[in-house]
Amino acid sequence: MAEVNPSKPPILVTGGAGYIGSHAVLALEAAGYPVVILDNLVYGHADLIKAHSQAELVVGDTTDRALLDQLFQAHRFGAVMHFAAYIAVGESVTAPAKYYHNNVVGTLTLLEAMLAAEVKRFVFSSTCAIYGPPKTIPIPEDHPQNPISPYANSKLMVEKMLEDFDQAYGLRSVRFRYFNAAGADPLGRLGEDHSPETHLVPLVLLAALGKRPDISIFGEDYETPDGTCLRDYVHVADLAAAHVRGLDYLLAGGASEVFNLGNGNGFSVKQVIETARRITGREIVAKVCDRRAGDPPSLVGGSAKAQKILGWQPQYADLDAIIRHAWQWHQQRHG
Ligand code: UDP
Repeated sequence: MAEVNPSKPPILVTGGAGYIGSHAVLALEAAGYPVVILDNLVYGHADLIKAHSQAELVVGDTTDRALLDQLFQAHRFGAVMHFAAYIAVGESVTAPAKYYHNNVVGTLTLLEAMLAAEVKRFVFSSTCAIYGPPKTIPIPEDHPQNPISPYANSKLMVEKMLEDFDQAYGLRSVRFRYFNAAGADPLGRLGEDHSPETHLVPLVLLAALGKRPDISIFGEDYETPDGTCLRDYVHVADLAAAHVRGLDYLLAGGASEVFNLGNGNGFSVKQVIETARRITGREIVAKVCDRRAGDPPSLVGGSAKAQKILGWQPQYADLDAIIRHAWQWHQQRHG
């Protein structure tokens, strides 16, 4: 484990026991930041974070103002990194109240507690889903915003809040709009473990392990080269590295900014399955099903802005590395 650096302020990481948040915790610690995690453990994994990080884990909700006030009194946080959110797009359509309560009310409560404690640096997990069906590929940060799910609405609402809080209260934020987070810690300590799992890469690998009978291809009649949807898969370790850069940027006095985080390359569902067959050497049965409602044919991001302002350069931009690391993790966790 990395040594914390006494000159670096402690960082509050909400959702730090979740998939992307836990990778960010390890990246923060490697950069010398002490970390306190706030996670309700509804989806997070306490065992992993306890095994691999020195962070203090506080179990609770971002909607719990009294708990937040206690935390801000106990620590002089330099910034907050906010990952805690519900993320299942389909569920958000049938249970929007759950999404607005946790993702919007929870974030507002957290921001109010920050202001009360005079902590004014915030790194936020947003999503390319706020763009809606793309009008241009690659999608730039100034693409029109047209979210088509309560999940994406909840993220855009927070983005708007952050713009207003910057103007009114001087709360500086970096908002990261992720494309498709995938892969696992290259050292095998952490990985993706959602329950229920809905994402393509883990589902394909669970099929390779025989934990699922097959993988469904949601539509092969899209206007793409092989008829299946194209997505920009970005390695979770690269996302984590971007968060540390975003934090350093804010702590150095940077103004509020929004950044796409993607590789700028689109891979089809069939390419992901083929790559997984090659890397795992296992049989993976694929069956073509109907399209999934709300899936745009192609989502590919431009990250030139993050490269220019933050100096962020993905280290694992190829699909092979993403699937190799995810496979290493899945064999260990579920094999
Ligand atoms: N997908 C698929 N079968 C699955 C899960 C996903 O064909 O069992 C497709 C999905 O339609 C999309 C891509 O894989 O085109 C990535 O989906 P995922 O849910 O991983 O991420 P999203 O793009 O929805 O954020």
